[in-house]
Amino acid sequence: MMTSSFFPPQRTLMGPGPSDVSPRVLGALSRPTIGHLDPLFVQLMDEIKELLQYAFQTENALTLPISAPGSAGMEACFVNLVSPGDTVIVCQNGVFGGRMKENVERCGGTAVMVEDAWGEPVSTDKVRAAFAEHPQASLLAFVHAETSTGVRSDAQALCALARENGALSIVDAVTSLAGIEVKVDAWGADAVYSGTQKCLSCIPGISPVTFSQRAVERIQNRSHKVQSWFLDMQLVMGYWGGSAKRAYHHTAPVNDLYALHESLVMLQEEGLEAAFARHLRNHRALVAGLEAMGLSMAVAAEHRLPQLNAVNIPAGVDDGAVRAALLNDYDLEIGAGLGALAGKTWRIGLMGSASTERNVVYCLTALEAVLS
Ligand code: PLP
Repeated sequence: MMTSSFFPPQRTLMGPGPSDVSPRVLGALSRPTIGHLDPLFVQLMDEIKELLQYAFQTENALTLPISAPGSAGMEACFVNLVSPGDTVIVCQNGVFGGRMKENVERCGGTAVMVEDAWGEPVSTDKVRAAFAEHPQASLLAFVHAETSTGVRSDAQALCALARENGALSIVDAVTSLAGIEVKVDAWGADAVYSGTQKCLSCIPGISPVTFSQRAVERIQNRSHKVQSWFLDMQLVMGYWGGSAKRAYHHTAPVNDLYALHESLVMLQEEGLEAAFARHLRNHRALVAGLEAMGLSMAVAAEHRLPQLNAVNIPAGVDDGAVRAALLNDYDLEIGAGLGALAGKTWRIGLMGSASTERNVVYCLTALEAVLS
């Protein structure tokens, strides 16, 4: 079969991710590939680490991008911090908490589940009760920004609970990083992972992670080898670590890292506070417009994520037909509901550089036309 080059259409990505990648980042991606141990590339790696420390608001030395998507960042945290026999308290209020449970079990640990309704934040009272019942728990894992529901949980309070109970915390910040506050040091979070395809407006396929000193000590004192060779942080550190001599571990996705660097430079230029304020402003405008159209939000105002807006699908409206019309007639992607919320909600992303007034107006106009 003869095939030809692939030219994707120019969509507007307002789903749960990937979000639109800015032209600046795409431009960086197409620069000449250099060796992954080239001294200039090593300099770039150091800058990426510093820029990630800025984004995560941390001084953690072990802060770097894993060369694989958010799921690999999640797995890196679990395989390095869970040993066989460990008890881990896992909070589930959407799809991604369920994946954490899978990770714990695959590491030979026992997951104690703290369940909350989809659309609600993690209950700190339930987590407190779980620690009282399972004082041996060595980890608490939760999702800061649940992409499946559009809900924000109180990461600061949850990390504090882990500390009070002598446990480490694993925080999923895939959708939160660069869209709302992720204060790794101020919260005392121990292992935090994210993704590049959401509020960093970078290409998918890289996962920034950061580990506290306490987490590093636990990794160094492990008695069992980490089951994953690729994600063993002690080995990854040999390539990304602080020493002048970098050892080959894997071939870094060189051009992807140019793209990440550019997106982080853009974040630094705008400033974290300004980026958060922009996400909030555009979220408020979107909600006002949706409500003026007679639509309702699926999440209570105080728990909403500005970057991911879950909207109730009105009775009698064909979910798939609306999303297909938006895509075909407007080149506009919004997200379907996931899991328990499939067919019940739409998820409208306003992430990173796609969080603009223009996109708010475009989405409202297209949705109104398709629904009328
Ligand atoms: N965690 C959350 C909260 C997510 O939203 C996602 C992806 O949407 C992931 C983890 C997994 O990331 P990836 O799809 O990049 O592997």
